Amino acid sequence: MAKRKKLALHWQILIGMLTGVIFGLIMANFGAKEFILNWIAPIGKIFVNLLKLIAIPLIIASLIKGIGELKDISKFSKMGGRTILIYLSTTVIAITIGLLVVNMLQPGNGIPKETIAKMTETFSQNEGLTKKIDEAHKQIESRPLDFLVDMVPNNIFSAASNNSSMLQVIFFVILFGVCLLLVEPKKAEPVYNFFDGLNEVILKMVDVIMLMAPFAVFALLANVIVTSDDPALLVNLLKYAGTVLLGLALMVGVYLLVVSLYTKKPIGFFLKGISPAQLLAFSTSSSAATLPVTMERVEEHLGVEKEVTSFVCPVGATINMDGTSLYQAVAAVFICQALDFPLTLGAQLTIVLTATLASIGSAAVPGAGMVMLVIVLESIGLPAEKLAIGLALIFAVDRPLDMCRTVINVTGDATVAMIVGKSFGKLGNPQVKDWDDNYGK
Ligand code: ASP
Repeated sequence: MAKRKKLALHWQILIGMLTGVIFGLIMANFGAKEFILNWIAPIGKIFVNLLKLIAIPLIIASLIKGIGELKDISKFSKMGGRTILIYLSTTVIAITIGLLVVNMLQPGNGIPKETIAKMTETFSQNEGLTKKIDEAHKQIESRPLDFLVDMVPNNIFSAASNNSSMLQVIFFVILFGVCLLLVEPKKAEPVYNFFDGLNEVILKMVDVIMLMAPFAVFALLANVIVTSDDPALLVNLLKYAGTVLLGLALMVGVYLLVVSLYTKKPIGFFLKGISPAQLLAFSTSSSAATLPVTMERVEEHLGVEKEVTSFVCPVGATINMDGTSLYQAVAAVFICQALDFPLTLGAQLTIVLTATLASIGSAAVPGAGMVMLVIVLESIGLPAEKLAIGLALIFAVDRPLDMCRTVINVTGDATVAMIVGKSFGKLGNPQVKDWDDNYGK
């Protein structure tokens, strides 16, 4: 039976997003915020929960299968080293772009004192903001090697039951996968087959969950609109937001250039393949929630083989956040400009270092970038009272910027997956599978 031609997924999602924004605006106008919160927002939450639900099983199944397919431990360690090196390089490029645009455009200079006072008054006691500062201080108290200690779980089940412990799960799975290569093939075979089947089922779950995506993004965006701050406040921050957006756009340019020059794949192919993941990143503000879709798109639609996707994407979701680090660089300099805090070249170099580390340490959830911004600001010596004012100043636009920087975070992961795939000869042709491919066979 001939299949009916469907509207491409990214168009379906875009329509859902647009109608969600329009619906949110209408409801906000009629003062019907409660209606959205009670009856519409839960659809978005269910969708995000479903995606998070399959993230850990997907990482486990696909990474075990991926390491098995590499068949060679030395190849795996080579891939690991190369991936991390490229991730660090893209992050440094992103921060440099951020610093260049913010120093050129100087969005923080000339902000009227009254605006600063008004923002401080509105937000400095804001619960969300004080929580972020407290969270950051907890991170600062840790010792230099704590990040390594934190990576090694003492109980795999408790690690796997917490989405913020993805690195711990990855650590366990790599150890497991490598040891699986070392045991007798006869014994390893059934284990591979099990995870192979599991991996197929979970990728199918991504397809099935994605059937809900257009409705879910409608709900997510309607919710963002009715819960956003007073738009009048945003106007004061247009120049700052514009600077962040310009930096992010330039970063997209870097990705597209690298993809087309190095992998020789057309830009349109890359964008079409990854766009549903980008749109979800925008709607959910979470690269962790988007991860299953990123992996599915990179593997099935961009043609990067599982051995690469299964390692590069989950690691990227946790440690590679180019959009976040670019935003941190712009925000840090903007705050210093607005509060007349002089920044030396040395301080700007400190930003490069701390924003790189901060992007590794930022959780892949909404608003995490702002927590780590506290660390960046403290590293350049911004006094505590200025810090609270500075964060209050940018708090109103954090959510829309978070949505945009998450798109860049996800695009960066996909770009690096393409580069690593190409460099290991593991970038092939897309193998697109529909959700009901095997149904009725
Ligand atoms: N929301 C971002 C992410 O999940 C992190 C951040 O910049 O706040 O990638």
